[in-house]
Amino acid sequence: MEVNQVELTISAVEEEQYPTGNQPEIALVGRSNVGKSSLTNVLINRKNFAHTSSQPGKTQTLNFYHVEDQLYFVDVPGYGYAKVSKKQREKFGKMIEHYLSSRPQLKGVIELVDGRHEPTDDDVAMYQWLTYYHVPTLVVATKVDKVKPSQFNRIEKQVRQVFSMTKIAPFQLFSAQTKLGKEAVWNWISQQTGV
Ligand code: GDP
Repeated sequence: MEVNQVELTISAVEEEQYPTGNQPEIALVGRSNVGKSSLTNVLINRKNFAHTSSQPGKTQTLNFYHVEDQLYFVDVPGYGYAKVSKKQREKFGKMIEHYLSSRPQLKGVIELVDGRHEPTDDDVAMYQWLTYYHVPTLVVATKVDKVKPSQFNRIEKQVRQVFSMTKIAPFQLFSAQTKLGKEAVWNWISQQTGV
């Protein structure tokens, strides 16, 4: 999809603030700093719309981006090292779990992992959780411009193995710098949303 129009509809801290209506939603999850904002900006053809930050764990809201008036991208706060109190984190974790497991408009989740490193325990836990709830999930290994192309097969094999992914479970290499994988990610989104 060639995106011309996008707006941040709401940074929601509670369910009552989620957009109403039936338009499909695609959520993006991953550890802080993994490259969620950068991937979002590539998908929507903007340089710095989704906020790229150097401060891990700052985002504490579900950010709904309305794309071409047809679907929403939902930026889910990075898990791992959110700079908030344990109580806040528990409360927020529940809100995210509830959103990811029971939102009818949610048609798929893009889980980002850092293509330079082996997935972490948090990454694995998130993938297992999404699988348990039967949420259609695309695993994206990002920052692969930092890796030699000769290593691409090894990265995919490693992620598939660590995540115990089936052979047909969707996986994509990605780079926000070279835009490698942009079209494939959009194709997957189109398949899930019909947009
Ligand atoms: P977020 O916290 O998951 O939203 O991560 P950001 O999108 O803010 O990215 C975190 C850092 O990684 C920033 O310094 C980005 O410039 C960098 N980054 C993100 N994606 C890529 C990529 O594909 N390649 C490279 N080389 N750097 C990236």
